[in-house]
Amino acid sequence: MGRESEKRGSLRLRAAGDNLGFALGACGKREGRERRGVLTLPHGRVETPAFIFCATRGAIKGVGVKDLRSLGVEIILGNTYHLMVRPGEEVVEQSGGLQKFTGWGGPMLTDSGGFQIFSLGFGSVTGEIKGQRHNKNSLIVKKDEEGVVFRSHLDGKRLGLTPERSIEIQRSLGSDIILVLDECTPYHVDKRYTELSMELSHRWALRSYEEFCRGESARESRGLCRQGLYGIVQGGVYEDLRLRSVDFVNGLPFFGYAVGGCLGGSREEMREVVDFSCEGLQEEKPRHLLGIGDIESIFHGVRCGIDTFDCVSPTRIGRHGWALVKGGERRLNMSNARFRDDQEVMSPWCDGECCRGGYSRAYIHHLLRVGESLGGILLTYHNIRFMTGLMEAIRKGIESGRLRDVEREWLEG
Ligand SMILES: [Zn+2]
Repeated sequence: MGRESEKRGSLRLRAAGDNLGFALGACGKREGRERRGVLTLPHGRVETPAFIFCATRGAIKGVGVKDLRSLGVEIILGNTYHLMVRPGEEVVEQSGGLQKFTGWGGPMLTDSGGFQIFSLGFGSVTGEIKGQRHNKNSLIVKKDEEGVVFRSHLDGKRLGLTPERSIEIQRSLGSDIILVLDECTPYHVDKRYTELSMELSHRWALRSYEEFCRGESARESRGLCRQGLYGIVQGGVYEDLRLRSVDFVNGLPFFGYAVGGCLGGSREEMREVVDFSCEGLQEEKPRHLLGIGDIESIFHGVRCGIDTFDCVSPTRIGRHGWALVKGGERRLNMSNARFRDDQEVMSPWCDGECCRGGYSRAYIHHLLRVGESLGGILLTYHNIRFMTGLMEAIRKGIESGRLRDVEREWLEG
């Protein structure tokens, strides 16, 4: 028996050391607090800084997993809310977890499910939920200390989400990185509301952590992979609240951190918030910035010490006919008549199927004009390659101490 448990013990230790970790590597002369790292996750490695692409309902629209890999994607995100509503986490679990269910097989992150529920609740832009984009009727039936009760956007069915339930669902989904449940505070609230909301989110984070610990040994006894739990820094735009929240998350043994909550109403405000949210976080743990994906903000976040970013924007705007490009224009509306007989490819540097395949701007313009879905798919490919190319360049820039040059190349062209 002694031998058996010894064996199990050593296996467990090896698994703990091997499949979940974060290591910071060497970098050149630093301009700020930028870092070059590697996230080791049960389903693979992620070089950081990295961009996490949103496979909201378990797919990046129009792009298969083989193509994602060839475009340089290392990690994708699934939304707990969407997956719990359809197909339901038990279906995903029976299929062997999200990685197997989707065929992706690589590193994944899931959110807590709170964001969709609360953003619907506050009647703001819900984006990915078709037909609900202008919904002004809150889906939230009740929110209290325990959690939130809401109606499914599909059939109105009453569903509940508590910190424990969110962790349980994410455990069934089986993603590599999971998030604590938080209340997403709307933008137009005062400091007192923000403070109360932050305190509630802290209590929920503690309950999430406790549920996570209970589930870890259950996962282990079933031979399932470990998961990394991220705590979330709250506190809205208020520096003193953010610092309190940083203290709080530093006090719990989370695997990593996410910077969340309201980041402000302008890019400038957001930068300040990210700056003072990151400053006090423990250096050796990975940090994720929730929902930010514009190029300038990525450079700023990287200099604050952010390791991963996610945003629906690159793939969403691709589907809607926009191409990300280097230089001052940032993005081009390919439906515009100026591309009608433009024989160039999107970007000569791009080695994605979109550009290497020789598809001209004129052809993509034509596809969009006649409503052929290939137009949006090619632009999705392009924007994915743009983002992975950008992150590769940022990583090289950090290694060589030439981040400023990289920024100039990508922002000024
Ligand atoms: Zn391209």
